[in-house]
Amino acid sequence: MTDTPALRLQPPPFATDAALTAVWDALPQARVVGGAVRDAVAGRPVADIDLATPLPPDAATAALVAAGLRVVPTGLAHGTITAVAEARGFEITTLRHDVETDGRHAVVAFTSDWRADALRRDFTINALSMARDGAIFDYFGGVADLHDGRVRFVGDADARIREDYLRILRFFRFQARYGLGSPDPGTIAALRAGVPGLARLSVERIWGELSRILAAPDPVAAIRLMHDLGILRAVAPELSAPERLAGLRAAGAPHDPILRLAAMLTGDALSFAERLKLSNQERDRLVRLGSVPSPDPSADNAALRRLLADFSRTDLIDRTWLNGDPAGPGLRRRLAALPIPVFPLEGRDVLALGIAPGLRVGALLRDVRQWWLAGGCVADHPAANAELARRACTPG
Ligand code: ATP
Ligand code: MG
Repeated sequence: MTDTPALRLQPPPFATDAALTAVWDALPQARVVGGAVRDAVAGRPVADIDLATPLPPDAATAALVAAGLRVVPTGLAHGTITAVAEARGFEITTLRHDVETDGRHAVVAFTSDWRADALRRDFTINALSMARDGAIFDYFGGVADLHDGRVRFVGDADARIREDYLRILRFFRFQARYGLGSPDPGTIAALRAGVPGLARLSVERIWGELSRILAAPDPVAAIRLMHDLGILRAVAPELSAPERLAGLRAAGAPHDPILRLAAMLTGDALSFAERLKLSNQERDRLVRLGSVPSPDPSADNAALRRLLADFSRTDLIDRTWLNGDPAGPGLRRRLAALPIPVFPLEGRDVLALGIAPGLRVGALLRDVRQWWLAGGCVADHPAANAELARRACTPG
């Protein structure tokens, strides 16, 4: 079969990447595949570089080792090894074609046919491959689709979704990032028809995709379509209609998936985080966003200092985005500019007054801190110490 490149990128992308060059020296026939080619063609920043090779894993390993590279058999069962060059890992997968699918996992067989490997990939924009000289192989019109903002399944959308229902959510990951305008009616019908199959997906996969969708620069249209097709309700019924997300976007809030999630969440944050198995860090932040007090735009600096003494600046600023107050920008500027007030006393200041270690030490510190907060967090060490001494002398 002739394998003619659709175009050639000049100069070849990654030509100055010494680590990738070392891999290519060992495996000259290997091509970069998937997201890295898509993003190189689109002129977008490339995150990680994955490769494919017609060589079986043992032959690819031998060639890499002979070239002095370390190889980790990361996914040998499905033909993936990781080559380590200059402390970076490159996943290299032997070309595969699907033998059998079950709605989530596929049985695959190795092949040396690049087109067959491209055929099992989900979208035309993800099915590109690129040789070392910058030649782009595009079997299904992915370059044109990328250019026109079309996220299109390789082959029949219905069939591809029935092979793997995760592709419904993956569709929205890429639609949010690359899609221009709405998908064609056939694709929409296939996405809708696949909704019952979403019940098979693990919560880890659901959150993995949802968080990527929410991290896109502008996920509003994608989320709206997920809502309209009943997909959002199927995977995350706790999330409200997308209006609040649109509000956040219109206000210019950061492209932050947890902030956006907090804006859409209707129910209890902790239950949601536990059900979808968010990471501890994501969970804690989501819970804090639900409980941090709302800074009032008309508050004076003393009131803002009081908040900054007790809550993190980032959480308070996040809260102002969620509140959607038109006076938000001014409030955020003030919250960003005020120094974080630090209560000037410590336990040793109490002990220095001759008070024995024990419960009274903490109680006195708490009392003086309340006094300090009430005064707008401006009392310095001598002033706070004087107040402490006054209170320490008064019985009770
Ligand atoms: P991103 O920039 O979001 O990482 P990516 O294209 O690298 O995008 P990955 O999820 O890392 O996406 O997958 C890498 C490639 O593997 C995809 O580009 C696609 O070709 C293929 N792929 C991954 N998952 C599937 C799937 N469920 N069905 C078909 N092909 C898939
Ligand atoms: Mg990737």
